[in-house]
Amino acid sequence: MKIDARPDMPAAHAAHWPHVVVIGGGASGVLLAAHLLRDPQAALRVTVVEGRHMLGCGVAYSTNDPRHLLNTRVANMSAFPDDPDHFRSWLEQGGHAATGACFVSRATYGAYMTALLAPLTADGRLRCVRATCLRLTPAKGGVAAHLDDGQVIPADRAVLATGHALPEADPEGLVLGAWEAAPPPPSGGRVVIVGSGLSMVDQAISLMASGHRGEIVALSRRAQLPRVHAPGQPLPLDRAEIPLGAPVSRLMAWLRAQVRRAEAQGGTWRDAVDGLRPHLSALWRALPHADRARFLRHAAPWWEVHRHRLPPESAAPLEAALNDGRLRLLAGSFEGASRDGTILRAHWRPRGEDRVLSLDAARIVDCRGIRRDPRRNATPLIADLLTRGAARIDPLALGLDVTPDCAVIDAAGRPDPRIRAIGPASRAAFWEVTAIPDIREQAARVAQVLRAELVRVPA
Ligand SMILES: Cc1cc2nc3c(=O)[nH]c(=O)nc-3n(C[C@H](O)[C@H](O)[C@H](O)COP(=O)(O)OP(=O)(O)OC[C@H]3O[C@@H](n4cnc5c(N)ncnc54)[C@H](O)[C@@H]3O)c2cc1C
Repeated sequence: MKIDARPDMPAAHAAHWPHVVVIGGGASGVLLAAHLLRDPQAALRVTVVEGRHMLGCGVAYSTNDPRHLLNTRVANMSAFPDDPDHFRSWLEQGGHAATGACFVSRATYGAYMTALLAPLTADGRLRCVRATCLRLTPAKGGVAAHLDDGQVIPADRAVLATGHALPEADPEGLVLGAWEAAPPPPSGGRVVIVGSGLSMVDQAISLMASGHRGEIVALSRRAQLPRVHAPGQPLPLDRAEIPLGAPVSRLMAWLRAQVRRAEAQGGTWRDAVDGLRPHLSALWRALPHADRARFLRHAAPWWEVHRHRLPPESAAPLEAALNDGRLRLLAGSFEGASRDGTILRAHWRPRGEDRVLSLDAARIVDCRGIRRDPRRNATPLIADLLTRGAARIDPLALGLDVTPDCAVIDAAGRPDPRIRAIGPASRAAFWEVTAIPDIREQAARVAQVLRAELVRVPA
């Protein structure tokens, strides 16, 4: 449905305006709503459906530990790419003395996301519903969202901003999820953390700050820690000089050449990695499937530790703990857990060996991050779309298959413009659409497409 934009139309008439229902009120859903309604004259209604009690926080920004910092500088975390100072100004208005180069807490960022919505709900164009969407079905002129509280919300368009497919809780209760609430472990007991990425860092920092005295062991295949941020300038890279579509081995050789180029100019490898960032989705889309698979198998773990870096404030306590033995890194694979009385055992296979060893532990925490099998961890909504053939998973099982403008592709390969997917839910098509600087660009683009489809502006 396309109706005339009527900036003078009072909110009472808003019921006739085109309606977008956004499923998921984490950062992606909130960013999309903010971009859709950013223009105060946009004659559009948006409903955000979120199952949790906090809007804008999702998995990443629900933490209330002030030591859990953003891994992106304030200057790069504005909700609006064309207003890069927006987040810093909001911080300043709230009395936070933050510069663009700072790393503030993730809880603060969650508050910023929530604050984005307040003016939009006040003028009646945005409605937030606390419920879980179980099904999306075709309806006259659009879609209908069926919620777990019995409501059915009709809309012209639906956007899936459902985020990461989270692993189920361990049915045997031996391994705690990274984001599961639990009382602190016995202070002198060993904690085995599976994974050595950013979620491990959160866990280790919280444990040490709470006075935990026992050993913390971080176990991961390559025992690689995220690298640390340092001042720098992204290397300016022109799209034309990037070997789009080249095999992964050639791409990696080309990237190494860019690192040497950055270093020759007095910078570091970070400048080459950051310079590549605006081109990542084009690079991904140009890669044939076999090369995407090769990248995931061999290069992705290296890419991730260089790309998703630690703020120096988080790296310092970690380094101190590694030096004095409170934290130990092990390279190997986690083979499972068992219980012997009150003692837990983490079974692991050292890298390159056949033997399986065991570590006694007071707690085992799974910090392997967000799982990538969107079928096994599908929510009822996604499972229903897949079962009915209204959506399909990409061949590498990264997520929903979507077109470049985020329309969900059905089982027969037809894009459905009534349902779009954004954020990590759409990562199969873009790979790097998990951090705010990428999600906000995508939200701006999708909002523009939706407005163009739904709202006809009078000449
Ligand atoms: C621990 C962590 C730290 C991070 N730190 C940074 C950082 O410092 N800087 C940065 O740029 N990026 C960071 N990221 C990455 C990025 O910001 C997140 O991936 C981003 O928040 C994704 O948001 P999302 O809304 O798509 O997904 P999610 O955060 O997963 O939110 C999805 C929401 O949808 C809801 N939902 C799902 N299905 C339904 C349904 N059927 N009905 C109703 N509601 C539903 C869920 O309840 C959830 O709240 C971090 C990510 C993580 C996990």
